[in-house]
Amino acid sequence: IPAVVGVPSEILQIANGTLLGMDGEAGRVWIKPDAVTQAALKGKQEKQQASQQQNLAFAHQRATSRDGKNIGVLANVSNINDAQIALDMGAEGVGLFRSEFLYFNRENLPTVEEQISIYQQVTEVFQKRAVIIRTLDIGGDKPLPYLNLPSENNPFLGWRGIRYCLDNPDILKTQLKAILTASDKGKIKIMFPMITTVAEIKAAKTILNQAKTELQQTNIPFDKNIEVGIMIETPSAVAIADKLALEVDFFSIGTNDLTQYIMACDRTNPKVANLVSALHPGVLRMIHQTVEIAHQHNIWVGLCGELASEIIAAPILLGLGLDEVSLNPQAIPALKRAIANFSVSEAEAITGEILQLEGAEEVREVLIKSVIS
Ligand code: PEP
Ligand code: MG
Repeated sequence: IPAVVGVPSEILQIANGTLLGMDGEAGRVWIKPDAVTQAALKGKQEKQQASQQQNLAFAHQRATSRDGKNIGVLANVSNINDAQIALDMGAEGVGLFRSEFLYFNRENLPTVEEQISIYQQVTEVFQKRAVIIRTLDIGGDKPLPYLNLPSENNPFLGWRGIRYCLDNPDILKTQLKAILTASDKGKIKIMFPMITTVAEIKAAKTILNQAKTELQQTNIPFDKNIEVGIMIETPSAVAIADKLALEVDFFSIGTNDLTQYIMACDRTNPKVANLVSALHPGVLRMIHQTVEIAHQHNIWVGLCGELASEIIAAPILLGLGLDEVSLNPQAIPALKRAIANFSVSEAEAITGEILQLEGAEEVREVLIKSVIS
């Protein structure tokens, strides 16, 4: 369903029944569009539908560059329904299960049994393929009314994600026990969000070890070799990636938050929306740095922010050397198709050029040209 956000409040004054034109891709709305605009929008819609049909042919193939390099393509999901759609769209697993959605729209915390059941259902959809469960990431733009989180002046700079969980270890431990229990029957990996310091990942791993010990004491089986990773979402995490890499099995770059923190822009504030672009070389250089450091330390690195759904970014995803990407399920076939158009050396050349550009607009222009040509 196409959607446009951040439109001015005058939109509320429009009378019911008024014809509107909408372009969810460009983020534009037309009130009573003239015949020429209507025809242009219809033409674009038909072209997109035809192209989506062609993309679908790539859904169940691997994402392979023209010279044969594979990049894992997984899905970002929030519930079982998403997981099923993701499988149909060709996802090779779940790269980001946003577990906080289990905690929303209810009046108290989900029990360990409720959580186990959901995690198991998601792993059943994907059988032996990986499902990366991100631990509770609330705070910021995601409040949980029944936890009575205090309102903060700068919620995105406040008590969110791992910070909240480390201060409420019982909530985190319950969740980790549920994830571990579900890991006995599927290929689950654990991912901690919003890591800023080494001390945080060490503390999170201590709670994970406690959860493992308690399960062992009660003879509940789990995957003893479960992989543990972190999201790279803060500039600090990029700067100390060499230290963080010693603590974990993988990184997953969360470009949504990483971009807002690098660009110093609230990702929900439409007034600064033009600045919050993951295509800005400032962001791309930090992604590049993270990938290099991960590989120097022999851990794999993925990317699960919205950048992966921007089809024009395909050559950068390949050229930066990411091992896998995770994106919204609907965008998977188009990404696989786009990757197939480039060889690794072409993608690296485009990426090298882009890292030297001045701004997001220049990057976008180069990418559009490279995708079209
Ligand atoms: C991100 O920050 O890029 C991310 C994937 O997490 P979320 O969008 O859920 O904050
Ligand atoms: Mg995030």
